[in-house]
Amino acid sequence: MQSRALVLFSGGQDSATCLAWALSHYEHVETVGFDYGQRHAIELDQRPTVLANLRDAFPDWSARLGDDHFVPIRELGQLSDAALPRAAEIRMGAAGLPNTFVPGRNLLFFAYAAAIAYRRDLTVLVGGMCETDDSGYPDCRDDTLKALQVALSLGMDRRVVLEMPLMWRDKAATWQLAHELGGTPLVEIIRRDSHSCYVGARGAGHEHEWGSGCGSCPACELRAAGWQRWRALHRAPQSPAAARAA
Ligand code: ZN
Repeated sequence: MQSRALVLFSGGQDSATCLAWALSHYEHVETVGFDYGQRHAIELDQRPTVLANLRDAFPDWSARLGDDHFVPIRELGQLSDAALPRAAEIRMGAAGLPNTFVPGRNLLFFAYAAAIAYRRDLTVLVGGMCETDDSGYPDCRDDTLKALQVALSLGMDRRVVLEMPLMWRDKAATWQLAHELGGTPLVEIIRRDSHSCYVGARGAGHEHEWGSGCGSCPACELRAAGWQRWRALHRAPQSPAAARAA
């Protein structure tokens, strides 16, 4: 059995759910985050909060949770004219992809992650990429990541396994997975502390039943719609904040 994993952990809903998934599947789990000059850098600020609250709420997971790595690759933002690294408006591009697509981003992330994993003797790389409910980014596709697994294994001359627990889950199923892994306490940590909003809206005036954000960017719309579908399907208990607001 593979027992040591590295999770690509951005501080968003998907990667926070993947971290919980890894902590319930592997004996030792480390995390890595990337600063590529993303406009929603507030996501990175939420990483230590999510990690600390997971440790507090889940002692078994805390014992498995190892080092957190941080890689600055700001050059990516200079190479790309995508909307995430800059303050451009989010819109669809001519190629049918939103201008939030950062060419090469996930390919680079996994190459860096594999290098860290090599040094730390971690055999599994876990990512929150998803083909079901996302923006059609070609570097989130199952085929891309399977090819990358082969390329990294050959290039490192050691077996590297890429696990994508959310690949075939939509956002409602992602909330459901969190509930299955850690019940209401985990859902509440992800709802309250993870950050998905592309424009980095957070704090007073930006709090919603489904978490914090502007409420109107594509990431907020996906997250809100997924939360509402999940709540309608599973009638999960209300979060304390939502109960107070009701
Ligand atoms: Zn938003």
